[in-house]
Amino acid sequence: MFPDAVDQYANARARMVQSLREISGIYSGAVLRAMSSVPRHRFVSEALRYHAYRDTSLPIGFNQTISKPSTVARMLQALELTGGERVLEIGTGSGYQTALLSRLAGTVVSSEGIDELHKRAREVLLFDLGLANVVLHHTFDFDSLSGEYDAIIVCAGAAVFPGSLLSRLTPNGRLIIPVGGSGGQVLTRYCRTRDDMIIEDSIGRASFVPLVSAVS
Ligand code: SAH
Repeated sequence: MFPDAVDQYANARARMVQSLREISGIYSGAVLRAMSSVPRHRFVSEALRYHAYRDTSLPIGFNQTISKPSTVARMLQALELTGGERVLEIGTGSGYQTALLSRLAGTVVSSEGIDELHKRAREVLLFDLGLANVVLHHTFDFDSLSGEYDAIIVCAGAAVFPGSLLSRLTPNGRLIIPVGGSGGQVLTRYCRTRDDMIIEDSIGRASFVPLVSAVS
């Protein structure tokens, strides 16, 4: 699917995936396969490419970071995607996780508030990798994106939980969001049941940049 899936970083990527399985405890075959095929080095600057397959977050400019692979894998695994879902991602950032979602779901709608990051992600995802099932929006105002989603994933820490997102989930839909302030967040999963109950659980801790509220 990806033009440079066989590349000079193929071995480093295979080692990353092995450590996700053996050290980080990622068991989802679909997530591990997606992570084997998406070239993470394409989402960081030339100067950082050498570090692209380490389990660490890396700067992408504008005080933002590309998330750590094990955190991305944990969140994606918890979404339990089966291939046909319509997914909303808030915080495109580099676009790395967007590319993974495009392999795991049917359609991915992703929003990013910083214009330059939105444009860079568009370049890599739509033009370089040619992903046809990704729609990118430039906005901090995720409430303005219409529609319901089978899964929603937020890639920035919410000091206050944006409850409006729950009403955007289809029955059986899942929302993953890091909840907490700058000291670290709890990766929280909300599942909307078919009879309209919300079940909440935690899938661990993480440290994300803050979610920007569009309402000031
Ligand atoms: N998954 C991304 C993470 C990027 S960091 C990656 O791996 O590259 C989080 C991103 O969320 C930043 O780019 C930031 O600008 C963006 N962001 C923060 N608040 C937002 C909001 N309300 N709407 C859209 N994007 C937001």
